[in-house]
Amino acid sequence: METHPASAAQRAIDHDQSQPDSVPDILIVDDTPENLKLLAALLAAESYHIRKALSGSMALKAVAADPPDLILLDIMMPDMDGYSVCETLKTDPATAGIPVLFLSGLSDAFDKVRAFEVGGADYITKPFHGQEVLARVRIHLEARSARTRIEAINLELERRVRERTWALERANNALRLEIEERQRLQEQLMELVMRDELTGLPNRTAFTAELARRFQATRLTQADRVAVLFIDCDRFKVINDSLGHFVGDELLVSLAQRLQNLLQPGQLIARFGGDEFAILLQDQDPLAQAQALADRVMTALQQSFNLSGREIFTNVSIGIAVDSGDYSRPEHLLRDADTAMYQAKTMGRGHYRQFDTSMHRYALQTLEMETELRRALQNRDLQVVYQPIVCAVSGVMVGCEALVRWPHATHGQVPPAMFIPVAEETGLITTIGEFVLTEAIQQVKAWNCDRPVKTKIFVSVNLSVRQINQAGFLTRFNQLVDDLGADLSCLKLEITEGVFMGHTPQNIAILNNLRDRQVQICVDDFGTGYSSLSYLQKLPVDVLKIDQSFIAPLDESTERGELVAAIIHIAHTMQKRIVAEGVETIEQLNKLKDFGCDLVQGYLIARPLTTDAIEHFLSHNHQNSADVSAF
Ligand code: C2E
Ligand code: MG
Ligand code: MG
Repeated sequence: METHPASAAQRAIDHDQSQPDSVPDILIVDDTPENLKLLAALLAAESYHIRKALSGSMALKAVAADPPDLILLDIMMPDMDGYSVCETLKTDPATAGIPVLFLSGLSDAFDKVRAFEVGGADYITKPFHGQEVLARVRIHLEARSARTRIEAINLELERRVRERTWALERANNALRLEIEERQRLQEQLMELVMRDELTGLPNRTAFTAELARRFQATRLTQADRVAVLFIDCDRFKVINDSLGHFVGDELLVSLAQRLQNLLQPGQLIARFGGDEFAILLQDQDPLAQAQALADRVMTALQQSFNLSGREIFTNVSIGIAVDSGDYSRPEHLLRDADTAMYQAKTMGRGHYRQFDTSMHRYALQTLEMETELRRALQNRDLQVVYQPIVCAVSGVMVGCEALVRWPHATHGQVPPAMFIPVAEETGLITTIGEFVLTEAIQQVKAWNCDRPVKTKIFVSVNLSVRQINQAGFLTRFNQLVDDLGADLSCLKLEITEGVFMGHTPQNIAILNNLRDRQVQICVDDFGTGYSSLSYLQKLPVDVLKIDQSFIAPLDESTERGELVAAIIHIAHTMQKRIVAEGVETIEQLNKLKDFGCDLVQGYLIARPLTTDAIEHFLSHNHQNSADVSAF
């Protein structure tokens, strides 16, 4: 078997480490037995291990069997001279490292140059001087041992370097994979942190960061100024509550898409959560840009959304804040756009407003409103007024609508449009609703008992969507009306279109339950929402109250007139009664009469009145004895 130099070196290490005192093995090759004997004796005396060979071929066999540590090699031998033996040994890597010391007689034709050329390490001339032989042998053994050790150390070093390099490469690879993984996670995290999951738009965090970046840039350079549009969906809560979250989500996604399509390069839209969006723009004239964009948004929302096969219209309210250069912090732009948006909401649906400093005061007032409203409820400061509802043809009062009033000690009358949304958001609407219902029932009972007329009048009470959707609404309602001993045939409940949109089984069950108890159901503000006449047919509804926004244009627009006439006609074919709200002029009343409208309500007939004023109104009005029992 071939011996590899590495393993020889390894052996040397092992040999060296495991047997530090091992005896060097010397092979003496000489065809003269006396020389062999002499040298063997000399070296054995020094405790070397000696092997002997009488010819070149024997020597090669001995080396192949077990490579010695050193060879003393005669040159002149009959079968194979020393040069050839040495050459053979040097060509084999397993034996090349064995030092060969040539033995030459003085008479031999010894070629020193050749001796070194074939790989000889040294030579000793005969007759031998014992001390010289021993000295040379020792030197070469030591040199060989040192060489072997160095080789072994080098090999070990190489092995370790290889091992370390490999380990390092592995560690590097692991590190690279870890870095890649971390980068991926980081990107995912950034995506989560910066993006709105539902719509895929950037979120508030991303928007605020970009706003701050652009804002700072305008302070450092002559860059165009920024403007922020704060957008809030009108009555989104109603859609969500009545049609369910799935449709609500669908609407948000479609709305986000539609808004995004309106943007120009460099403008950024983000979803702030819920139904709130914000747009950031930068322009030489940011106000004009913002207004133009708000107009585009309003126009785009005139088209309906098709959600799960249902046609839905939605409006938004927009607040605009423009950086005039006076702002010290970018987030104040957002705050002001938000405030302006709330102001826009008070103007009704689908408006935009630009922020002005007077709005700060208003925002603070809204914050205080909740606390004050709670106090007003505790102190029984709220009141109920009643607006007469009369027969369109005869003018006889058949009922009235109960409307809540909040006379505030310092602010005067707070309009319901201001505090009802706050009450809905805080849940106070339940308490307010129960208060109005109690007052109204007691009041209508008193009026019907006190008056010596044949027809009872009804009272119409507003119910908010939030109230109906509150758990236990029906139980509380039944409890209340039973406690009051209410005549439920004189009670109508007005519910805005939102409740009907979803017509969830729960809502329908509640409405059917109310009707079973003789309570009539009115759709309030009809025409402003999403209901279509055809599906109202399937719902437990008795009366449609056409919103005042349809009545006001009757003075000029014949087109609107045709629409109102059509609504009245279709409602009648579905056995529903019609009340026109907000009738202010005699022209409007006449047209409504022509269209066959059943009942009217509005400033033309009477403003919302106190109980005393209603009694006065009633006593004059009911002198007319027309038969209004159909209502
Ligand atoms: P609504 O139920 O549609 O009530 C009719 C509103 O139109 C009342 O406003 C009434 O004063 C006003 N109005 C009546 N006739 C005319 C007219 O000829 N011209 C004009 N321009 N307006 C007229 P109000 O009292 O300010 O109430 C506003 C809204 O607040 C109500 O609209 C209703 O949605 C809500 N609300 C009022 N009271 C209550 C309540 O007790 N509970 C609930 N949930 N909502 C209420
Ligand atoms: Mg109403
Ligand atoms: Mg109304």
